[in-house]
Amino acid sequence: MTQNTTMAVAPARNAVRWDYAPAPESTAIAQLAPRYDLFIAGSWVPAADGRTLTTTNPATGEPLAEVALAGPADVTAAVAAARKAAPGWAALPGIERGKVLFRIARLIQERSRELAVIESLDGGKPIRESRDMDIPLAAAHFFSYAGWADKLEYALHGRPHLPRGVVAQIVPWNFPLLMAAWKLAPALACGNVSILKPAETTPLTALVLAQILKEADVPDGVVSILPGDGATGAALVREPGVDKVAFTGSTSVGKDIQRALAGRDVGMTLELGGKSANIVFEDAALDQAVEGIITGIFFNQGHVCCAGSRVLVQESIAPEVIERLWHRMGQLRVGDPLDKNTDIGAINSPEQLARIEALVATGEEEGASRRSVACALPERGSWFAPTMFTDVAPAHRIATEEVFGPVVSIMTFRDEAEAVEKANNSAYGLAAGVWTDKGSRAFDIAGRLRAGVVWQNTYNRFDPTAAFGGFKESGFGREGGPSGLLPYLVTS
Ligand code: NDP
Repeated sequence: MTQNTTMAVAPARNAVRWDYAPAPESTAIAQLAPRYDLFIAGSWVPAADGRTLTTTNPATGEPLAEVALAGPADVTAAVAAARKAAPGWAALPGIERGKVLFRIARLIQERSRELAVIESLDGGKPIRESRDMDIPLAAAHFFSYAGWADKLEYALHGRPHLPRGVVAQIVPWNFPLLMAAWKLAPALACGNVSILKPAETTPLTALVLAQILKEADVPDGVVSILPGDGATGAALVREPGVDKVAFTGSTSVGKDIQRALAGRDVGMTLELGGKSANIVFEDAALDQAVEGIITGIFFNQGHVCCAGSRVLVQESIAPEVIERLWHRMGQLRVGDPLDKNTDIGAINSPEQLARIEALVATGEEEGASRRSVACALPERGSWFAPTMFTDVAPAHRIATEEVFGPVVSIMTFRDEAEAVEKANNSAYGLAAGVWTDKGSRAFDIAGRLRAGVVWQNTYNRFDPTAAFGGFKESGFGREGGPSGLLPYLVTS
């Protein structure tokens, strides 16, 4: 059990008295190859210039595998292969494309344990989350869009439609396989062909997915997978022959993509960051609300675009909520991502840890009060203790910028109008949570929030049939459900 202590500066790292015996998942099932190539036109090929990257385990800093790093020549080759494959895939009857997607979903399920272990090894997320969320939801997305492949006219109310063509899909490191599924499943269902670029720090499950695509008889060239770095992504979106870009990642890169494609007839879906408000009214069931705050910000180490990183609590209950939340934070188990009891795993990379530390330092400099749980953190790897800021002003950087880590900022409000105003006072508009006993109030508030997703008395619930996407600097376009088909189709 971890202990709570309040501190002003860096958290002390006390020894932990665990009340759970370690329950590590075996890594034997992962069977990683020492080296992975690029997946282009249905074949495994090294990068044209021979470059590689090393993907590491963020919990230990140890290397996991060497992965080919796609350069401009590889991007050109993948797009050429996609263009060649596009007419055949688009001409396939929807029901046949649906069967392929269905096979992909089944194969993800069959290899789910292996995929979960690899996701946790490569990305640092707790096995409980990769096993129970990432992988099942990835399969569910393929199942759901398998069903849509022959029913596109129903999503479009009978309007004539065509696939966009060649789509470039760039995904981040926080949900590597799940984001790949969010992108690939609707694109393929609609008859598009894809080039997927996984993030530099988490390429492995996308490469296992390439094996699955092969086994599922996805025709050569319909999906290419190009591990690489930011330069690979930049080259991919600029490559002539790309008809649509779907990107999930930071707002700054999203803006760079928009600038690069300005004036060109290239479709775009951007799912960018967030600074989502989790609003707790005084009539809420407080224990559930506290649990919702925990889920909202500490799920996946807070590496979540829709994380409830700004908690707005009604003034009358603020002291009690803060006390209960702090108590609950002290019970979170931080450590080995492969341990089935772990709540908070490793920070995805040393670079992300440095970003979190820098923003947290800013919070203290600007006058907010910091509390970090005094838990023993492993000596090796990248870790950050669960952290809460109170006395936060709306203008503080920790209240306006995406920390993308296990750090929550608490602010208060007096009435509904102030709650809505503060929640909407953000450059972002991705998600929000509303905690109240009154259904009418929840619906009223939800309608006044500029957020793409509003959860009522829950948080971070995902479903392949529901649309997800943002307003303002959180981007545009929707993923999930029938709305998620529209960006992949040209309609007349
Ligand atoms: P990025 O936006 O840089 O990375 C997202 C993806 O885009 C990765 O695959 C990345 O490749 C790729 N990429 C990087 N540069 C370019 C480019 N110029 N053109 C095209 N693609 C590019 O996020 P970071 O990893 O740098 O994280 C920085 C911050 O972004 C985080 O702290 C967080 O605040 C936010 N973020 C938000 C996410 C979200 O879900 N909304 C997800 C990830 C980050 P590579 O990894 O190889 O560099």
